[in-house]
Amino acid sequence: MAESLSSGRGVLSALEGRGCEFCADGTLVRERYKGNRAAVCDSCGTPRAQFWAISGE
Ligand SMILES: [Zn+2]
Repeated sequence: MAESLSSGRGVLSALEGRGCEFCADGTLVRERYKGNRAAVCDSCGTPRAQFWAISGE
């Protein structure tokens, strides 16, 4: 967890397009989740990672 928070953008990029761990058919996409950047499953909607302190694009 600490690892994902320390390098947020790289982790998000790495997660994007990966299969979901929580359902069979999902693919992770970059989305906003509750106002934060996250990689969210496009099938079940489970957020894989969220980042709070990262600003800019
Ligand atoms: Zn899923």
